Amino acid sequence: MADAEVAVPTPVHPVTPPKKVPKPKTAAERKERVDRILAELDAIFPNATCALIHKNPWQLLVATILSAQCTDERVNKVTPGLFKKYSTIEAMATASQDELANDIRSTGFFNNKARSLIGAAKKIMADYKGQVPRSMEELLTVPGAARKTANVVLGTAYGIPVGVVVDTHVQRISQRLDLTRNDEPVKIEQDLMKIIPQDRWILFAHQVIHFGRQICVARKPRCASCPLDSVCYSKDKTLA
Ligand code: SF4
Repeated sequence: MADAEVAVPTPVHPVTPPKKVPKPKTAAERKERVDRILAELDAIFPNATCALIHKNPWQLLVATILSAQCTDERVNKVTPGLFKKYSTIEAMATASQDELANDIRSTGFFNNKARSLIGAAKKIMADYKGQVPRSMEELLTVPGAARKTANVVLGTAYGIPVGVVVDTHVQRISQRLDLTRNDEPVKIEQDLMKIIPQDRWILFAHQVIHFGRQICVARKPRCASCPLDSVCYSKDKTLA
């Protein structure tokens, strides 16, 4: 899920240089720091949720597949018409791939996405009685659904915390906040699952995605407006 960056009006303060922020040394200090990060995220984004508009698990699966390398905003412009035209999973399963690709052209990578959507619909009709599966193992058999997509569907549509969604925002911010020292999403997810309580996995990802869009943006993070400044020793901090 890529997304446009949105400016938020928040108070500005002098940014603490990374070298002046103490790093946690003990397990207790690390836990205390994570608790502080979670509390700050709760304070800023208490009701964070998925920005992809959907009415059921199937629509969320479709929207998530479309959101690869595309903004949620763009996906939300395409899906209302798409769900009207292909109103059931069956209708998507029997769609013309060329026509579907044209319908989703503006989301990019439309040929691959059309192939995935038709494949996903066929798989769900054939093997899961027309219901989007509710387990990671089963979801990973659905074309177009890798672990991130499966986590989005399980967490947001079903409320099942099987893992942590690791998109580009969660990856970047987990690294900046030293919650992981890995680069691979699967390893980052494992690191997060060890330090974030399971009942926070779903909300945490939503909060971090919002945080990444609004404050800790990829280029020139808005550190002077960041409530996590005092615990952040990232070399990416924007001091000026
Ligand atoms: S915006 Fe990002 S880099 Fe800047 S202080 Fe906050 S968490 Fe650290």
